Amino acid sequence: MPYIDVHTHNHAEMEDQLRIVSLRLEETSVHTPSPTHGSVGIHPWDAGGRDLDQDRQALEQAVEASWCVAVGEIGLDRVHGPVLKQQRRVLDMQLDIAASAGLPVILHCVRAHADLMQLRKQRRDVNPWIIHGFTGHAELAGQLLDMDFHLSFGSALLEIGSKVRKALTRMPLDRLFFESDESEVDIRRLYREAADLLFREEEEIRGAVAANFDRCFGGHR
Ligand SMILES: [Zn+2]
Repeated sequence: MPYIDVHTHNHAEMEDQLRIVSLRLEETSVHTPSPTHGSVGIHPWDAGGRDLDQDRQALEQAVEASWCVAVGEIGLDRVHGPVLKQQRRVLDMQLDIAASAGLPVILHCVRAHADLMQLRKQRRDVNPWIIHGFTGHAELAGQLLDMDFHLSFGSALLEIGSKVRKALTRMPLDRLFFESDESEVDIRRLYREAADLLFREEEEIRGAVAANFDRCFGGHR
């Protein structure tokens, strides 16, 4: 049973790990070697000044690739990037493609959780939406879980006293993912830490996340 790393920018293959390598849409059109498992999308920071028709075509083509198991990272950022309206246009287009391809979505979200919850409610998409790098408090986690989101926890989980450690203790195992993202963290440390915080065996956490992967990513393991 591999350790699932649901979101990483590190292309290296690791023994015992299944990593979903996050690629920018532009990276898929050049001849970079494809990862074993990857996601593709337009980051909200890159949402300005784009040709949406061209992007739609490119993304529709990219998600057809056998390595592509998700659309992401995509999302909303109220702190960085172009105006929210422009981010929304790019996000909506990508959510449409993910929904019709039946692929899960990996979401970047900065101070825009309310926007994403509203969007989830309006769109009624049934493909899984995974908030990556969740660092919020337990109440926010609860609201997102009520709206059917999955949450992925990264290296913030190792910061003693961080609010996200408390949020984790409220997580149902069937909505849980872990990720290394841009950090150098060994993903196994996150599983070990989560097992301690949840008073469970690491093996059980690993099994639960692997089951989540199979359910959300349609058996791409
Ligand atoms: Zn990332």
